[in-house]
Amino acid sequence: MFFTSLFDFFLPRLCFSCTQKLNPYENHVCALCLAEFSTAGKTRIDREYERKFRKAGLVEDFQSLYVFEKGKGIQTLIHSLKYGGKFRAGIFLGEKTGQLIQQNCMDWKIDLIVPVPLHKLKKLGRGYNQSFYIAKGLSRILKKPVDESILIRKKNTLSQTNMDLAEREKNIRNAFSIKNSAIAAGKNILLVDDVITTGATINECARVLKYAGANRVYAVSAAIADLSDDQEISPLSIQSLEQRLPV
Ligand SMILES: [Zn+2]
Repeated sequence: MFFTSLFDFFLPRLCFSCTQKLNPYENHVCALCLAEFSTAGKTRIDREYERKFRKAGLVEDFQSLYVFEKGKGIQTLIHSLKYGGKFRAGIFLGEKTGQLIQQNCMDWKIDLIVPVPLHKLKKLGRGYNQSFYIAKGLSRILKKPVDESILIRKKNTLSQTNMDLAEREKNIRNAFSIKNSAIAAGKNILLVDDVITTGATINECARVLKYAGANRVYAVSAAIADLSDDQEISPLSIQSLEQRLPV
């Protein structure tokens, strides 16, 4: 605590959401912001599972930590990870999601944690895959390995903003392939995405993994969003991001 306080004196750590100074006992996000985030909760998760995954029958079970809300702190936090290069925001969200899984999903038997991959051109442009850092946070809590190489995104899909469910399903169809079926065979795989909106991307990844012989596929996200939120999930202007994010 002493060293944290000393460190904070010279180089204050800032909340990824509100950019205010953190107290020595706070990490990454301040207590006020955390209290404001809406947790998804069992009723909402059950409803979302029915809407997104039941019919396709590919995803065994699903969890999400928060509800994405336009213009709220959760949006800034996720943007700081996705567009602001704040990797630790992803690890923070992954660790919180891992604790949620430990509490609520004792029957999940996970062998491998797999982040939803980006197309190589998109990854080159952004410099990193934001879901990989959430997967790393999950891995720290669940003590299971992350595999980034098993699944690849072969199609550089169009932005899904302004697409309805049917259009998204068509857009994402055949976007993924398996690089190494031997790794997937017989495994229980936890798929990780930053935000799940319709579930079309997760279902398509699950379809490919199952085809490659995966035993069970589970899905988690840091947040769930409605289709109407997607305008807000797309990038803020660089200028407004710079104003809002901690350095
Ligand atoms: Zn805050």
